Amino acid sequence: MDFYKERYDVIIIGGSLAGLAAALQLQSKGVSNVLVLERGNFPGGQAAGYVQNGFEFQIPLPGTMFVGTKKEPSKTGQFLHDMGMDGGWQPVSECYRVVLPDFDIDVTLHAGYERAAREINAVVPGTYDGVIGLMNLCRQVHDSMDVLSGNWPGRMQMMMKHAEFVRTAGYSAAEIISTFRLPQKAVDILNAQWVYMGYSLDTVPFTEYALWMAECFAENRLCQEPLAKLALKMQKKAEASGIQVEFCQEVDKILVKNGKVLGVRTAHGDEIHGDYVISTLYPDKVYPQMVEPSSEVPQNALRFVNSHKLSAAPVSVIMTIDGTPEENGIRNHFTFFSNTLDDEASDEPLSDAEVEHILTDAEPPLKDDVPAKGCPTNYDCITAVCPNYASQAAVPEGYTLLYLTALAPVTAFQNIGEDAYHDVKRRLADELIAAYINISGVDFRPWITEVEVTTAVTISHRLGTWKGAIYGHVPAMEHHVAARLRMKKQERFIEGLAFAGMDGNDAGIQVPGGLEAAQDVLNDMDEKRNADDSGQKTDKPVPQKGTDGSSQNTGKPIPEEGAVAPKQKKEAVENGKQN
Ligand SMILES: Cc1cc2nc3c(=O)[nH]c(=O)nc-3n(C[C@H](O)[C@H](O)[C@H](O)COP(=O)(O)OP(=O)(O)OC[C@H]3O[C@@H](n4cnc5c(N)ncnc54)[C@H](O)[C@@H]3O)c2cc1C
Repeated sequence: MDFYKERYDVIIIGGSLAGLAAALQLQSKGVSNVLVLERGNFPGGQAAGYVQNGFEFQIPLPGTMFVGTKKEPSKTGQFLHDMGMDGGWQPVSECYRVVLPDFDIDVTLHAGYERAAREINAVVPGTYDGVIGLMNLCRQVHDSMDVLSGNWPGRMQMMMKHAEFVRTAGYSAAEIISTFRLPQKAVDILNAQWVYMGYSLDTVPFTEYALWMAECFAENRLCQEPLAKLALKMQKKAEASGIQVEFCQEVDKILVKNGKVLGVRTAHGDEIHGDYVISTLYPDKVYPQMVEPSSEVPQNALRFVNSHKLSAAPVSVIMTIDGTPEENGIRNHFTFFSNTLDDEASDEPLSDAEVEHILTDAEPPLKDDVPAKGCPTNYDCITAVCPNYASQAAVPEGYTLLYLTALAPVTAFQNIGEDAYHDVKRRLADELIAAYINISGVDFRPWITEVEVTTAVTISHRLGTWKGAIYGHVPAMEHHVAARLRMKKQERFIEGLAFAGMDGNDAGIQVPGGLEAAQDVLNDMDEKRNADDSGQKTDKPVPQKGTDGSSQNTGKPIPEEGAVAPKQKKEAVENGKQN
């Protein structure tokens, strides 16, 4: 037990981007008696990728890793800058290419609302005003949410300063988009991401649509290095600031007494005490499986879990191909392609007949034989990401790195037994590759040097990600992001337990989710401190306060409560640790 301190202010479960961001944020605000427990042997979680046969496979995050520009950084960008992590970020002008052969669409959109609107106008004339109007509205709503996530003003201020947000909050994305009277072709180009995700715009709140669209078409930068390196830097920085980060330490239980967190117990049996626990794991796993005793799980927490639908899980083919992207027919960074535009994903697992089809068709389909849907999963759009065009340092020299991903419901693999699993995986990979070759025109298969196929099963095995769902919960009108923002306290079902990323809060996954969870904990510490105005000495952590009342980093280390004894690592730790 002397491996750990007697007590921590905050214990963070998961050394992923969200977990490490939360740790660094807490430290920067003066709370450094923090422990991060990671079940794997490397930081970064899903974003870390892995090394195989000397090749570094990086999971690309072109969608939501929005850092903004150097001049106008997003909250994430500003945080990474403040932490000294902005070395490898370079502007990337391409937003995405969308290829829909059956709809005669092949267009590449670039950053900047006006530029993207002009590009859509070039293929669907007469749409500039509508598209720019929609994008500007998305931006206004986005900026309002940025303000409102910190401070919810009175009714008058809301009407005066956030009128567009108020006007649109009660409507679905489809309802608001329809007011711009855009031809369907322009809507299809704009909405490729949503078809890919399998989210119906009839049920996605416009507010959430706006948050994503405003960032997608804004000027942005991408990390030139593999995200694993960024995660490693975050870990090193955290450790250098006095935060304890431990690998190969799986948290088995979150200990709760009288509605309040006491700490955690690891799979090795260590009981560690802390005032707060931040979980990067889904509430779906935490409440039903990890809270001990289970009698401490409030009914409302279970209702919360049952009322949220899990997002999709990926079927991803990650390849290195000999030669340059151009030689392999790959012309751009990020492509959505599809033969259909059905955004309603079925929740059904692959049927026996579908599994049978996948297993028995003798040869993978070539070009014209590609299945009509263009996608072997229940979803209808595939993404192709070629990091050569954005993160050159993540690609082995002389090779092309290509990721093809289709999203499937988390239930897709439910009926596939162990004996069939590898054949199904291989077959899905064949179909994804053939579908891409169909639009790229160059059959690069003879030059593939490494290939890795990832499914929901891979991700849940490797990272413990609940059912392999990679995007948290499906956005829905009944869980409107603004309502959740206002109900934060009611959603704190167990005192001292916060969630980072994976839809634990309204901020989303990865770094923003981690920052939000850290802020929730800091606010709670502040509240407790203010309530404790008796002047008595308290053992509660005290975040440092700035003159404006906000917490801020004073640069002074917080006194430690008991030093860490020399680490007596268990054999498993010694074998697995890799830093
Ligand atoms: C193939 C693929 C493609 C993707 N593409 C994109 C994309 O294009 N755009 C995008 O925005 N996102 C994408 N994502 C999703 C993105 O990677 C994740 O949403 C994001 O990395 C989640 O970060 P997180 O920090 O919230 O959680 P995670 O990365 O899931 O981290 C959770 C951490 O907790 C650890 N852990 C789990 N259980 C325990 C336990 N019991 N005790 C201790 N530690 C535990 C895990 O090992 C992990 O490190 C993709 C993911 C995959 C797999």
